[in-house]
Amino acid sequence: MFCPKCKAEYRTGITVCVDCDVPLVERLPEEKEEHLILTKYEELLYTHDPGLVAIIKSILDGAGIAYIFQGDSSGYLHPMIVPARLFVEKEEMQKARDLLKDFI
Ligand SMILES: [Zn+2]
Repeated sequence: MFCPKCKAEYRTGITVCVDCDVPLVERLPEEKEEHLILTKYEELLYTHDPGLVAIIKSILDGAGIAYIFQGDSSGYLHPMIVPARLFVEKEEMQKARDLLKDFI
């Protein structure tokens, strides 16, 4: 069972979300990937430069920050047609901003 508001998962038998006080639903409606990302992650920047994607990844990996690169097509050497968008976990946003301030 899931809370339709905060998306928390509950075990069977519980019918109301303790946090939101709303009835639980059997399953959450299908959502677009982007929508799911935005509940937990926030967009920090986007870039057309595959080299920059690689640099940013190594910085965030080194700092242990959870991130998603959407539209990442690193491996191509020519500039990307569609920008790669960097999403960082909301709690880590300030830390990530400090680390990446040269690129923002
Ligand atoms: Zn809830």
